[in-house]
Amino acid sequence: MELKDKIRVIEGFPNEGISFKDVTTLTKDPEAFKAAVDELAARCPKDFDLVIGPESRGFLFGTALAYKLGKGFEPVRKPGKLPAETVEVSYALEYGTDTLQIHKDAIEKGMKVVIVDDLIATGGTLQACCKLVEQLGGEVAAVVAVIELTDLKGRELLKGYKVESLVEYPV
Ligand code: AMP
Repeated sequence: MELKDKIRVIEGFPNEGISFKDVTTLTKDPEAFKAAVDELAARCPKDFDLVIGPESRGFLFGTALAYKLGKGFEPVRKPGKLPAETVEVSYALEYGTDTLQIHKDAIEKGMKVVIVDDLIATGGTLQACCKLVEQLGGEVAAVVAVIELTDLKGRELLKGYKVESLVEYPV
């Protein structure tokens, strides 16, 4: 099963110059979806406590992965979406900043957390997730993603963490 064959690439979405990697063609294919989640699971450490993932495509793979490995899942969301008390991290985008939040009681001190998203581009989103985990006293056990855009050097931003991806594109 070549996962790359199941990912649809759309040039110029949402903006000119972006080569958008559409995972909906993968998630709708039962065998490809299963293969992706199984492989993500194989890349996770043996010993960890919780899966978290940023909205919204991190939920697609994060919840399936958590279910497969018998773990819980906590969502990471944009401001104003989570109903209980939150902690947050702001991070730089090309223009401006973005903020991500997680429930304050999502992670207990010392918990080992696996962070999942569909794609690593600059790594900014996943780095923010790492900071949320650490802010709550947790430990990042691994950062896993289906796709990595290698020329954007997200792995460098995530230096010091165990980073795993299944399919690579340059951009
Ligand atoms: P970054 O913070 O730059 O690593 O961007 C990662 C987030 O943006 C992920 O949640 C992706 O879903 C989304 N993303 C960034 N670039 C792309 C792309 N070329 N195709 C699809 N999703 C992307």
